[in-house]
Amino acid sequence: MPTQQPTLGDCIESLRLHIRSLQRTGLRFDMINRCPAPADQASRPARLAALREKSTDCTGCRLCRERTSVVFGEGNADARLMFVGGAPDNASDAQGRPFAGPSGELLTRIIGAINLRRDQVYVTTAVKCLAPQGDPGKESVEACLPFLHRQIEIIQPEIICTLGPVAARALQEPGSPDAPLRGNMYRMGTIPVMPTHHPELLLRRPELKNETWIDVQVIQRELGSHTQRKQ
Ligand code: SF4
Repeated sequence: MPTQQPTLGDCIESLRLHIRSLQRTGLRFDMINRCPAPADQASRPARLAALREKSTDCTGCRLCRERTSVVFGEGNADARLMFVGGAPDNASDAQGRPFAGPSGELLTRIIGAINLRRDQVYVTTAVKCLAPQGDPGKESVEACLPFLHRQIEIIQPEIICTLGPVAARALQEPGSPDAPLRGNMYRMGTIPVMPTHHPELLLRRPELKNETWIDVQVIQRELGSHTQRKQ
């Protein structure tokens, strides 16, 4: 007996039943495009999350011994402006967030002074663990720098503002003879870096706030000129 050829309608119905049975297994068809992308094609938040994960149990330097948490950084993964401090303070160590204490409140006000919100920028530190004596030391900065470099590579900010001398030195070209001075912009590759005072210093010496105000105005102008160039 000759077998009857299925009609187009039969094929559609059979496909529909097949899809239903797959759906009952939990498979969703929008998952097809969600196979893990190669690292460089993943989204910025995903790449930052993977890097954060890698940092959580880091024992790359002596600072791992006394930390409560690795303070990786937070903010907008697409930020145009990135702030980099030296090392987390006690409040940050306790909360696992950079600039969490009074110096963080001042930083939030500084960011607001150039018409940005903290969730529009990215905030991190040169070393990710509490430095109990204040200065993390050259060895810890060097050990931790790959995390910061990778954060910068992922976020690709248009400008970086370093807060205090530890961060300013950390992003300098290796072998540079002089430490960067506050207010003197330099470059890390193609990215302009503006060093300014650490908010903690500003809390102790409010008379220096005016200098930081001048520095962040330069940053604001730089961001404005980038926007104009993009238009
Ligand atoms: Fe690792 Fe950086 Fe913490 Fe040192 S400071 S233990 S290198 S995360």
